[in-house]
Amino acid sequence: MIDLRSDTVTRPSPEMRRAMVDAPVGDDVYGDDPTVRRLEHVVAEALGKEAAVFMPTGTMTNQVAIRAHTEPGDRIVMEGSSHVVRSEGGAAAALSGVTVHPLSGRAGLFGADDVRAALGSAHPFNPSTLTPPATLLCVENTHNAGGGSIWPVDELDAVADVARERGLAVHLDGARLWNAAVATGIPERRYAEPFDSVSVCFSKGLGAPVGSALAGSLTFIARARRFKQVFGGGFRQAGMLAAAALFALEHQRDDLARDHENARRLAEGLAGLDNVRVAAHTVATNILRFEVGLDAAAFVESCHHRGLHLLPVGPGMVRAVTHRDVSAEDIEEALRILSAVLAPLAPSEAT
Ligand SMILES: *Cc1c(COP(=O)(O)O)cnc(C)c1O
Repeated sequence: MIDLRSDTVTRPSPEMRRAMVDAPVGDDVYGDDPTVRRLEHVVAEALGKEAAVFMPTGTMTNQVAIRAHTEPGDRIVMEGSSHVVRSEGGAAAALSGVTVHPLSGRAGLFGADDVRAALGSAHPFNPSTLTPPATLLCVENTHNAGGGSIWPVDELDAVADVARERGLAVHLDGARLWNAAVATGIPERRYAEPFDSVSVCFSKGLGAPVGSALAGSLTFIARARRFKQVFGGGFRQAGMLAAAALFALEHQRDDLARDHENARRLAEGLAGLDNVRVAAHTVATNILRFEVGLDAAAFVESCHHRGLHLLPVGPGMVRAVTHRDVSAEDIEEALRILSAVLAPLAPSEAT
């Protein structure tokens, strides 16, 4: 089975498993797990922040950030197809009691004007007590539902500036920030610069089995540690998991370039097939979205029968994500399967 559902399906390599087994551990709740501490130090350094805290999932790092930046009743502004909105089980409402103010993005990106419009302007006829106070802006880079799109750095600076002028905190969901950095050569710390807090994942393309980190100032991370515990994220000999994340950062980060090449090759191959629409030139990292001329669920099932696992993400929309456990040869085989599933639809329907 060629599994292109997500880059989360990657399995730890034998070397990574060895690093996990050999890791010195302590009790992370007591703050004395040496491997967790080393990972937190490495991540804070990579993101140019004072501190970082290791957690089990990216949902938890995002939600702890939201809880730490807001009070119940607040409004958080972000693009409407963000992971926080679509794929975190309604956690922002359930755990932090905040309202999401969704922006309509272009491939997940928006501009300073969109933020200005969302925040509105003070007017004496418009009592400020009516509107839930906006206290946080969230940005996702790369943008998952936007097809792995990358934010230009000056656009990040611009939206963060507008938010900060209006007193909002700014949070970056950088689950795949590593992909952006490898694709553009712009270091993670530069992407992280305009943000008060940054969440990153080790369990996606980097290939670790579990784990995310949240980075920010010393005082912010101290507050985040409290909510990590509140949300049930106090994990004990977590050094075994931190060792996998460290191994991924040190040995597997640069491999993401290969995933990007494979995604481009898949997009180009798809663009040459009938009954499919794909904007091959927009593939920036390892995520590819394409439109098929029939029900996506039925299409994905046909591919699955032939040994290719994809994800339906809309009525006619399908997602494919490349990762370290699929090779260039797997991509060629995936294209043969896609071609076979798409081909029978062509001439009879056209005439
Ligand atoms: C995967 C992902 C997360 C975190 O997901 P977990 O499965 O909870 O680790 C957060 N944001 C984005 C954009 C993601 O793709």
